[in-house]
Amino acid sequence: MNIILLGPPGAGKGTQAKRLEDRHGMVQLSTGDMLRAAVKAGTEVGKIADGIMKRGDLVPDDVVVSIISERIDQPDARRGFILDGFPRNVAQAEALDAMLAKKGLKLDHVIQMEVDDEALVERITGRFTCAKCGTGYHDTFKPTKAEGVCDVCGSTELVRRADDNEKTVRSRLDTYHKETAPLLPYYEKRGKLVKLDGMAPMDKVADKIEDVLAAEQRLGG
Ligand code: ADP
Ligand code: ADP
Ligand code: ZN
Repeated sequence: MNIILLGPPGAGKGTQAKRLEDRHGMVQLSTGDMLRAAVKAGTEVGKIADGIMKRGDLVPDDVVVSIISERIDQPDARRGFILDGFPRNVAQAEALDAMLAKKGLKLDHVIQMEVDDEALVERITGRFTCAKCGTGYHDTFKPTKAEGVCDVCGSTELVRRADDNEKTVRSRLDTYHKETAPLLPYYEKRGKLVKLDGMAPMDKVADKIEDVLAAEQRLGG
């Protein structure tokens, strides 16, 4: 099964993608994570992306389309993938359709996670991650059990993203409403769109996603 998790910054895409990896062995393909790795490694792509990401604008389409295309070709993606943060505008969605057709792959569902803007700002400004194992946390909604220590791996290296501040989040939300929201009618027309309430607690959202995947299996997809 190949799906897109679509939603504004902070909607819970990464949180749910990690759960799907654990439960179904699918792989999370996050353009944001790939771009942050490129920035850290100081590659050509990283040099292009760095300033753009700090402003909350979109990195050029050709850059993200080519990194996704290469990543989808890796053997682990054959187990099924979850696109997280891609596509982010109609041009990327068209490029994805063409790419999948060429590779003989199919998109099963586009799951839209709906969350109010004010809740998103609260989620993003409270977000932190374990630098060692990648587990995501939140100051209020998912704190670590022991302060400053990752529940999963025990690391004390807990980090916040450079762009997770209120000013950049507002700009990322603007970008989302202008550039990414037009993907909703795009996928609705193609009969792929499923909307769910992203304001619900994490476990409830996960259950709803499971329902979508299970319905597909009953239909023989
Ligand atoms: P995205 O990948 O869509 O930007 P994340 O999955 O990183 O979003 O979630 C953003 C923040 O909100 C994280 O700190 C996460 O722990 C928290 N979060 C995720 N889902 C929920 C939820 N359903 N309710 C409350 N907080 C959530
Ligand atoms: P979030 O899920 O919290 O919005 P991401 O990690 O997906 O954050 O993205 C962080 C930043 O990386 C974006 O603000 C943008 O600058 C860049 N980026 C990620 N994915 C794409 C994409 N598909 N197209 C263009 N830019 C992207
Ligand atoms: Zn950890």
